[in-house]
Amino acid sequence: MHATTELINWYNTNKRDLPWRHTTDAYTIWLSEIIVQQTRVEQGLPYFYSFLEKYPTVSHFASAPEDDILKLWQGLGYYSRGRNMLKTAIQVQQEYGGTFPTTYNELIKLKGIGEYTAAAIASFSANEPQAVLDGNVFRVLSRYLGISEPIDSTIGKKIFKQAAADLLNTEDPAAHNQAMMELGAMVCKPKNPACATCPLQLSCYAFLHNATTALPVKSKKVKIKERHFNYFVVEDNNRILINKRGEGDIWANMYDLPMIETTLPTTIDELVGLPETIKIFGNKLIIKKVFPVVKHILTHQHLYVRFIVLEQKPLVMEQNWDFIEVENLKKTALPKVIFIFLDNFLN
Ligand code: SF4
Repeated sequence: MHATTELINWYNTNKRDLPWRHTTDAYTIWLSEIIVQQTRVEQGLPYFYSFLEKYPTVSHFASAPEDDILKLWQGLGYYSRGRNMLKTAIQVQQEYGGTFPTTYNELIKLKGIGEYTAAAIASFSANEPQAVLDGNVFRVLSRYLGISEPIDSTIGKKIFKQAAADLLNTEDPAAHNQAMMELGAMVCKPKNPACATCPLQLSCYAFLHNATTALPVKSKKVKIKERHFNYFVVEDNNRILINKRGEGDIWANMYDLPMIETTLPTTIDELVGLPETIKIFGNKLIIKKVFPVVKHILTHQHLYVRFIVLEQKPLVMEQNWDFIEVENLKKTALPKVIFIFLDNFLN
């Protein structure tokens, strides 16, 4: 009996019924994988359905305007992933005539598809024996096999890749991969793994050596950057002043509001006196209302966002600014924190 037969049996009895588990269509699997890498399954489900309804095939996806994709992606964060999906779809359309490839070697050549996603699509759609390695699988492997090499080190990655390949049940790679990920998500959780109900318990290194809290090991702590965004809300009858963001930062090419960023928190008086503020709005900023600062957490950044409603217009308009009709905001790709504020403020 293969080491993971019990795991696959457990999976077949206990798996969550998720829509993408009923298909071998590579496009649908790709959609689900990219979305689920971004958020929890329950949160990702509505996005999955919306994308599939609007773009039932990769050809539909490939011909979508980028703004529409970003709009549908709104709230998932990491908007570059939404943009990369469009690049992938266009490449599939151009190079494969709209038929999503199913082999690892073809998939890995597509823009925006890394090793994990290529292995997931190849195994789930064509049962190709490729072992997936995501955060959940790293954790299960580390505990089950007792690997204490840091999962974020170069050597660690190599060791885990080999271990994943060695453990793969080549008779049913799709079920094996699904089972490993499901076990990590539902049983072998980061904190308090439910070893008592785990099908691997009797041969698990961490369980037998009381080492579940010590594994997996991570070497680096990611530094969190703090940023302070001071947004100006400028209205003109039924229109509002928005800003199209550039490349090279969070929310690239999406829309927000005119903003002054500071590295430290500022009082309103300090903000009003900043040279950038004076340049755009003059010496006396006419403020109608200041909303309390909201903390918005991104993976490696903490944003402190403050909205300041003005009773004046800017003296100079920046190139990326434009007044748009409030009703058109619904069709505009806005970061979630901006969308939520405007939705409350304008309604
Ligand atoms: Fe994880 Fe516990 Fe199962 Fe080992 S026995 S794989 S630590 S849940």
